[in-house]
Amino acid sequence: MVLAVVNENGEILDRQSIPTETPDITMPKITAYFKEQQVDSVGVACFGPVDVKKNSPTYGHILVTPKLAWRGYDIIGYMDSELHVPLYLDTDVNGSAIGESKWGAAKDVDSCVYVTIGTGIGIGVIIDGKPLHGALHPEGGHILMIPKEGDTYKGKCPTHGTCFEGMAAGPAIEERWGKPGRELAEMDEVWELESYYIAQALMSYILILSPKKIILGGGVMKQTQLFPLIRKKVVEMLNGYLNIPEIEDIDNYIVAPGLIDDQGILGCAAMVLDNE
Ligand code: ZN
Repeated sequence: MVLAVVNENGEILDRQSIPTETPDITMPKITAYFKEQQVDSVGVACFGPVDVKKNSPTYGHILVTPKLAWRGYDIIGYMDSELHVPLYLDTDVNGSAIGESKWGAAKDVDSCVYVTIGTGIGIGVIIDGKPLHGALHPEGGHILMIPKEGDTYKGKCPTHGTCFEGMAAGPAIEERWGKPGRELAEMDEVWELESYYIAQALMSYILILSPKKIILGGGVMKQTQLFPLIRKKVVEMLNGYLNIPEIEDIDNYIVAPGLIDDQGILGCAAMVLDNE
């Protein structure tokens, strides 16, 4: 978990990382840090699924996460009881989308999709300048994939098998090829296949959400050779269906994060600044 203090200009004044253990161990460290730093408000970008609906009886509770110790944990309730300052909550990926939208790669547009592709896959969505929640929050990492012809891999997602995360997250790459992605950088076939699944997901996001910018982050996207492969495949898959300037300027449409590894922290700051 990354803890940071940010001022109203988006300057990061201090930061610390602590391991995610159990709530009993981790949460007192978090609240102690913010007490010591005497912050005025806290934005929280939390792994999901998490209840982000303000009027819900379980607002601020972590839901059915695979991190068992955190399942059902009332993270906002605990922080509120310790800190007594205004708290703002969103998903970790919405946090990144908010940060990129305020200060990063999507600062000039009012809608974007932020996709993180790492140990899992998640999407954060900004529409008309606001994070999209709906009934809970988007879980676009779990949309089903059409396997590439000849691909017999069963998928790594315990819930859906061959969903996007099951086919394309870091653990799927490692299981499929026998090594983590960072050790496969030179193997073109790895990234050819990976870009096929990422492009397929992006096509769905483009058709359904109509974002003005798509930002791809997370550990897998450190393999920057993926970007041109993904852009080419998205154009091919859309097959001329969307005749819009964004697709014609695909190099500036599907992009890397603008805030390097600070988008989550700055997203938390933006949650506070945009709501006070
Ligand atoms: Zn899944």
